[in-house]
Amino acid sequence: MTKDWKTRLIHTDVKVPEGFESLASPVYRGSTVVFPNTSSTHTEWNQEELGYAYGLHGTPTTLELAARIAELEGGTRTLLAPSGLAALAMVDLAFLTAGSHVLIPENVYSPNRVLAMKLLGRFGIESSFYPPEIGGGILQHFRPNTHLLWAESPGSITMEVEDVPAICAAARERGVPVALDNTWSAGVLFRAFDHGVDVSVQAATKYIGGHSDLLLGSVTVRNAAHLARLGEVRARLGLAVSPDDCSLALRGMTTLAVRLKYVEQSALEIARWLAGQDEVQAVLHPALESCPGHDIWKRDFTGSSGLFSLVMKPEFSGAQVRLFVDSLELFKIGYSWGGVASLAVAYDVSRGTGYGDRVVRLNIGLESTVDLIADLEKGMRAMRGY
Ligand SMILES: *Cc1c(COP(=O)(O)O)cnc(C)c1O
Repeated sequence: MTKDWKTRLIHTDVKVPEGFESLASPVYRGSTVVFPNTSSTHTEWNQEELGYAYGLHGTPTTLELAARIAELEGGTRTLLAPSGLAALAMVDLAFLTAGSHVLIPENVYSPNRVLAMKLLGRFGIESSFYPPEIGGGILQHFRPNTHLLWAESPGSITMEVEDVPAICAAARERGVPVALDNTWSAGVLFRAFDHGVDVSVQAATKYIGGHSDLLLGSVTVRNAAHLARLGEVRARLGLAVSPDDCSLALRGMTTLAVRLKYVEQSALEIARWLAGQDEVQAVLHPALESCPGHDIWKRDFTGSSGLFSLVMKPEFSGAQVRLFVDSLELFKIGYSWGGVASLAVAYDVSRGTGYGDRVVRLNIGLESTVDLIADLEKGMRAMRGY
């Protein structure tokens, strides 16, 4: 066929040499998928089994990241979502329907709670909240219409470690699926499926990405019926993920082990230092005995990551605690975590912990631990001089 140059802009005869092997995963972008003939066209989301149909359902780059997270967590399949929060919402919509009830821990990542109360409620889904220390006592909280149980361990901000195996055993008795927000463990320090969890969710934004430059979520399962429900929701809502973000996450993932090891050591050193300071009432770090559920952490986890909280003594006001945070130089103030930069956020925990507005959550990054401690010391001085 002879082609005008304008046609050649779109349909070229150029061929590049084949056989390129590199260590990097290629970025495959694309909305349209080209089929060899009309009889092979289809519109199904399950491309792993049925072949490529549409970029919405994934490209080789996004499917590679999904498969690698499944491999790492010991699941059979992972579905990606555009953020951790979108992953949580996918799970809710997969398991809940009008008239359902969902159980959520009191210390849950707060957008998960708001999602249940403000959005699911509008569609006739009930939610209730259980104390994270409940363990097998969760049985009393089930209702006949409980169709999903969330766990998050350790919980956001106050870091209580849940007895996930006991919760899962109780849920199994009642035939209720358990979804775990497994972000803190990066999907590796707590083996969700070995402990009875049905659905393991991660904000891949955090440790998988690892560099504060992308938003992604993952939902990993072992059960084919659960996968079918989740895949259906993702396809109906059109929750696509960017191959470029997935490529960054694939790169981030290669250094996960060394980053985690470093922040584990550094966070432990800083947490122990904080525990020795006069101003500090408690350090909420699962590897320290002062953290509620520490024994469970010891039993179930193979390590700790770089996110923990501290509570200042009651003699300090909320304003003084905020001054502590504002006086830090290396610790930046900002949400999200799991990146290379250390972060600090002041929280007011109104839930019945007695901590009030004296809580500070720290994300430990890859800076020198000596410098980070010096920075915290500076914050303490500013707080005392208030
Ligand atoms: C950050 C976070 C999420 C949400 O992730 P995004 O990608 O920011 O939407 C979910 N769960 C936990 C525990 C988180 O810390």
